[in-house]
Amino acid sequence: NVPNGDGAGQGGSSARGHGSSGVGSGSSAESYRRRHEITVTGDNVPPPFTSFEATDFPSEILREVQHAGFSSPTPIQAQSWPIALQSRDIVAIAKTGSGKTLGYLIPCFIHLKRRRNNPQLGPTVLVLSPTRELATQIQDEAMKFGKSSKISCTCLYGGAPKGPQLRELVRGADIVVATPGRLNDILEMRKVSLHQVSYMVLDEADRMLDMGFEPQIRKIMKEVPARRQTLMYTATWPKEVRKIAADLLVNPVQVNIGNVDELVANKAITQYVEVLSYMEKHRRLEQILRSQEPGSKIIIFCSTKKMCDQLARNLSRQFGASAIHGDKSQGERDHVLNQFRTGRSPVLVATDVAARGLDIKDIRVVINYDFPTGIEDYVHRIGRTGRAGATGVAYTFFSDQDAKHASDLIKVLEGANQRVPAEIRDMSSRGGGMGRSRRQWGSDSSSGGRDGGRGGRYDSGYGGRDG
Ligand code: ADP
Ligand code: MG
Repeated sequence: NVPNGDGAGQGGSSARGHGSSGVGSGSSAESYRRRHEITVTGDNVPPPFTSFEATDFPSEILREVQHAGFSSPTPIQAQSWPIALQSRDIVAIAKTGSGKTLGYLIPCFIHLKRRRNNPQLGPTVLVLSPTRELATQIQDEAMKFGKSSKISCTCLYGGAPKGPQLRELVRGADIVVATPGRLNDILEMRKVSLHQVSYMVLDEADRMLDMGFEPQIRKIMKEVPARRQTLMYTATWPKEVRKIAADLLVNPVQVNIGNVDELVANKAITQYVEVLSYMEKHRRLEQILRSQEPGSKIIIFCSTKKMCDQLARNLSRQFGASAIHGDKSQGERDHVLNQFRTGRSPVLVATDVAARGLDIKDIRVVINYDFPTGIEDYVHRIGRTGRAGATGVAYTFFSDQDAKHASDLIKVLEGANQRVPAEIRDMSSRGGGMGRSRRQWGSDSSSGGRDGGRGGRYDSGYGGRDG
């Protein structure tokens, strides 16, 4: 159950070491990087920690890692840990599920050991995260792995009363994990000071920008001392993220896992794509659900809150489905996620926004009832399964309306060695498939078609965008 880690250095080929006696750290670093598709840019990048033994982490941290049953660092951890421990800025780009959270948390614990401030005067470490769910997951991970290091960590997020969060802040925390909207509110109330922050993390930077948090992030960064270490973690590397990295980081080392120029889906996920009309989707969905092992955790994505509710209603009795989207109250969302996590309600119907970044264990199947608005979301959605070394399955319903995504989808499928249905190739070669779409949609259009159900109702907010 280990993501791409393999105790490197043992079975590595010696192709590069010929002639020399003893494999220098340079060449074993190179071979580890090659094997794990790690590329680094920057001056004097230290070699990766190819095993936990090589990390030299304090024993209390190693104890927690062992306790979690991890056998080796994931590639992003292996390469970003030694860089982070040199107190350098870092941009780490790796797909969802690759272990990025501990990639910044463990160096953060060590940073805290070296430099402990009075937590009551403000945090030493600040982590920005796009959503409440992610923020609390990070906090959980920090509490778990930082337990023996005796770190304190608190969370600030929107959609919940400020009172309890403020009270915890006053009690003091080494690490504050916050969504940008809520942190800004609290900064404006002058209830927290960031003047002690010397370790700053932007997690899921691409998601935060997608959600429109750039202005808040920039405002927050003005309050964080310039003498600091800044770490940015992201699953994708689009222009906007590059820009903000260039503005906020100083001479960062960049670490990429896999090829980031193209979107790369996890090869452990089997991707099925079926071309279906709007009318055919529901029947096919039930068929797929019936064919799963009882109790398997399944996420169904659709593009509107309305469709989410409707599907969950239709599927609730037979399959134990429930819905999560931005119109649900925090209480409802917590409840739904809990029911899902514990397997009491094993089918979750979600919009993209509501499902962003959730690390829910053992999701077997992702179903794209509606194709997302872009291929990046496709890769993110299917990345909910196949995490941490497990295998997963993704079913995608693709209709003529989605023809504009056909060529992007082909690239992703091919990149992960998946079968590309002939119909998808047809659509792509026809460059949009309009002709066919009109014909085939003729009989369906009385239903209002999918656009009728979607117009302007994307789940674009997240509980009032975190505020
Ligand atoms: P990302 O932030 O890249 O999406 P996460 O940090 O959420 O990924 O990690 C995904 C899962 O992998 C988590 O359940 C985490 O506990 C687990 N994990 C992290 N590091 C390791 C490791 N070295 N070996 C095995 N599992 C790990
Ligand atoms: Mg993450």
